[in-house]
Amino acid sequence: LPDPDVVSLTDEDVADLLPRPGAESDKYRRGVIGIIAGSERFTGAAVLSVGGAVRAGAGLVRFAGAKAAVGQVRAHWPEAITTVLDGPSVADVGRVQAWVIGPGLGTGEEARELVRAVLATDVPVLVDADGLTVLAGDRSMLRRSAPTVLTPHAGELSRLLDVPRDRIEAARIAHVRRAVTELGAIVLLKGSTTVVAQEDRPVRVNATGTSWLATGGTGDVLSGIGGTLLSAGLSGYDAASCAAHLHGLAARLASTGNSGGQGPIAAMDVARALPQVIQS
Ligand code: AMP
Ligand code: MG
Repeated sequence: LPDPDVVSLTDEDVADLLPRPGAESDKYRRGVIGIIAGSERFTGAAVLSVGGAVRAGAGLVRFAGAKAAVGQVRAHWPEAITTVLDGPSVADVGRVQAWVIGPGLGTGEEARELVRAVLATDVPVLVDADGLTVLAGDRSMLRRSAPTVLTPHAGELSRLLDVPRDRIEAARIAHVRRAVTELGAIVLLKGSTTVVAQEDRPVRVNATGTSWLATGGTGDVLSGIGGTLLSAGLSGYDAASCAAHLHGLAARLASTGNSGGQGPIAAMDVARALPQVIQS
């Protein structure tokens, strides 16, 4: 029998939830997203997260990070407003309606202080990748008033819950539910299907993707999509589930050739395919 507490969104559900600009829109009202990602060593994650945000239709992307990451983001996305971070404060970045923090950030002292500073704000935050590893070391940062969306894969969830990865893989829905309760956040668990959960709501399972998504950088693109939808005013639960849906469709589109067969994608291709997915 189908479990009534596990549902899937349709394309129509997502179309109804997605924001569309109107005559009254300006870039600020559409949603300003702040992205803190990348490091001297990892710059690609920053470029891909910003790419997910720009291509998902952010009103404005503010990016802040290490000098090398800012250089790469500027080169790839002139649309973004960038700030080189000098110290663990986000005060200079400007006003945003939602934050994304974590892809390629590193896990050292400065990264920890940045995660703490972002979670201390009163706007929605999506935490991914290294940001999740930092959180696993101090879950008290999750006590906050605004919604927090966590986007772990099974390894990252394993660290957050201190449960072996194979036990999570064997019971993904049960562990996502447990994470929601223990961490007090909206949780999106990545994998061959994506599971999104929030307290007192049915678990949403997304299977729009393709196995070709299993390649470096695709998760970073997802963080930018989710953050954009959060900044546009969707709830954490809707932003996470719509992001997974669009990300999967974009990957499928990017991987499908004229023959109808599928082949490899680069993470940037997923970002590039987003406008066409949103159009349809
Ligand atoms: P990350 O683990 O952060 O690199 O993100 C990888 C992305 O690819 C997530 O959106 C996953 O849900 C997706 N993904 C990974 N493996 C598969 C798979 N075998 N089938 C479909 N999607 C996948
Ligand atoms: Mg990742």
